[in-house]
Amino acid sequence: MAFTHNLGFPRIGARRELKFALESYWRGESSLDALKATGAALRQRHWQEQAGLDLVPVGDFSFYDQVLDMSFTLGNLPERVQGFEGDALDNTFRVARGRSAASAEAHADCCGGVAAGEMTKWFDTNYHYIVPEFTADTVFRLDASRLLAQLAESQAQGVRAKPVIVGPVTYLALGKAKDGSDRLALLPQLLTVYAELLETLATEGVEWVQIDEPILVTELDADWRHAFETAYHQLKSCRVKLLLATYFGQLAENQYLAANLPVAGLHVDAINGRDDVLPLIGLLPAHKVLSLGVINGRNIWKTDLTTVLDWLEPLAERLGDRLWIAPSCSLLHVPVDLASEEKLDPELKSWLAFARQKLDELAVLATALNQGRAAVAEPLAANQAALAARRASPRVHNPRVQAAVARIDAHLGRRESHYAQRAPKQAERLRLPAYPTTTIGSFPQTAEIRQARADFKAGRLDVAAYKAAMQAEIARAVREQETLGLDVLVHGEAERNDMVEYFGEQLDGYAFSQFGWVQSYGSRCVKPPILFGDISRPNPMTVEWITYAQSLTDTPMKGMLTGPVTILNWSFVRDDQPRSLSCKQLALAIREEVLDLESAGVSIIQIDEAALREGLPLRKAQWKGYLDWAVESFRITANGVRDETQIHTHMCYSEFNDIIEAIAGMDADVITIETSRSDMELLDAFDDFNYPNEIGPGVYDIHSPNIPNEAHIVQLMQKAAERIPPERLWVNPDCGLKTRQWAEVIPALRNMVAAAQRLRSPV
Ligand code: GLN
Ligand code: ZN
Repeated sequence: MAFTHNLGFPRIGARRELKFALESYWRGESSLDALKATGAALRQRHWQEQAGLDLVPVGDFSFYDQVLDMSFTLGNLPERVQGFEGDALDNTFRVARGRSAASAEAHADCCGGVAAGEMTKWFDTNYHYIVPEFTADTVFRLDASRLLAQLAESQAQGVRAKPVIVGPVTYLALGKAKDGSDRLALLPQLLTVYAELLETLATEGVEWVQIDEPILVTELDADWRHAFETAYHQLKSCRVKLLLATYFGQLAENQYLAANLPVAGLHVDAINGRDDVLPLIGLLPAHKVLSLGVINGRNIWKTDLTTVLDWLEPLAERLGDRLWIAPSCSLLHVPVDLASEEKLDPELKSWLAFARQKLDELAVLATALNQGRAAVAEPLAANQAALAARRASPRVHNPRVQAAVARIDAHLGRRESHYAQRAPKQAERLRLPAYPTTTIGSFPQTAEIRQARADFKAGRLDVAAYKAAMQAEIARAVREQETLGLDVLVHGEAERNDMVEYFGEQLDGYAFSQFGWVQSYGSRCVKPPILFGDISRPNPMTVEWITYAQSLTDTPMKGMLTGPVTILNWSFVRDDQPRSLSCKQLALAIREEVLDLESAGVSIIQIDEAALREGLPLRKAQWKGYLDWAVESFRITANGVRDETQIHTHMCYSEFNDIIEAIAGMDADVITIETSRSDMELLDAFDDFNYPNEIGPGVYDIHSPNIPNEAHIVQLMQKAAERIPPERLWVNPDCGLKTRQWAEVIPALRNMVAAAQRLRSPV
């Protein structure tokens, strides 16, 4: 009997209920009890939707982030929030979001400023977690209250609950030792708390616990491999059964280690780690469960059920009751329900599956395995018909695009001259002061902007009225920036709902969902466009807005585009051709836009590659292959311009030391990066590499409502100038300002401009 389970369910809600409840609470418009009630209602609904499974995840729900929740469960709170008297959930938000003294009146109990915890990407996804912080003195202390409350709730509903926790080795590996101490030295103490947690769950009647150790799909050195042995031998005597879950990639050389840890079961990603499965079956001790993640938890395409069954049936034969099946990873990374989509083209819709549909697919597979394919003949036939239609559809294949990709050669990605020759020509044209100030692109997406867009989409506002509303916002952004005295302006991106969707909507080969939201961090969600066919650009996408903005001012206006790698990495991509090929198609389309902007007289063009790093394969051995085509795609997009045109790129949340060569290879004239939270340490990589072009290290942490003060910015820039020659430094925020309020942005930028002035003429 194949047994079904799920690793995690999206928690934001099919209509983003959690997002709205969180934001309303943060604005002080609703109570903590109301927020908690929304959470409970979502959990209840999601458990109901998973009721057909043999085991249902519990504890995967989080109000902000499951890794931060784990930190609270382990009592690992940063010192700055210890001793907080209020509700634990408020304390969670203090770590997650930071709290400035200025906004403290709204939350009188959160006195003083609290720095937000560092946030980084969860493996190769676009989900961000709050990085656990350690020091040599970290003491762990169990606080199982959150998990136990959710467990009790699920048990009261009759849910076949399988609590989900982050495993100890992954937890340590994802964290940072703030004092540079050895994280692994904390393992023995950490394991005591894990043992206590598992014991507590056993007492509550739990049989299986899913313990997530995705770090096993990365290259581990001897210490970390050893940590796995230590950890699971120590947890061996716990009274619950552990399902050790790995996902997102291949175990490869960690197969033997994973197969032989003393746990009751192992889950592997049978999509990205398909090659592991046969060797694992050979290695796995005969009493262990093998859970195969056969439904892709990272994309929105229907599974080819017949092909999966062809592969699974013989394995089921061999494994018998030891076979479990599941999605490859938590469904956190896909939208909730395809059934909500009323506007999607029916043909395209017939090719797709969201979280709920993926669980339906899982049920079909289980029935086929347990009762024979005949028991599900109809759904299997429908599935095959849909897939065949997709393969043959003329909407997917465009010979003209394929021919253009075939014509790509090395010259397409090369600038006319070297940076050293271009820079003086650009300086001459732009006449910027030292330490030029700029922003990353977006200004606050105000309620009025969102309302206008909603009205436009609903047909309540016509094209002309919508355009006028957006132009008014652009004019406001230009006016504010001129008043602030910024040196290079932006139009503010009022007309963009999202930096990828905006472009996807104007490219052929893309489709859009109405409710296909996926959590990015906290209450933030993205709605990745669906790249389903060959990509082309029927019309210019940004030229009108940028030239309008430039017409309002004599100060240089940056053209603002999203780069091909980021568009790719933030889309749901095709599973019928390599990512590299889709990326080159995008590169050619955005290149046309770059050239149109240049012809329209735009002197600076920024091409954001915020997501370049997150596309890195989890295994270093595969990095070069990815970086080669990613950098080539950026170069194809950017480098067709004349010397006098300045190309900027922007990247957020990045660490650069291990990709600095590729970054330099992109040859952008200016790169702006996120650095404010890391105290300019990120710049060491550029310094050590002798990075030749210009850099704008972020000095304003835009993820936090904190307003940076002038002295702090000066100090950060002085640190930057110790590493990068000052004549190549820019002054800018970490990222776009769309999530902030004007009331926060203006004082922050005023301080930033003042800091730049102070740097130019120190007193
Ligand atoms: N230009 C974009 C903005 O300012 C960049 C956002 C990003 O890098 N995430 O919003
Ligand atoms: Zn950014």
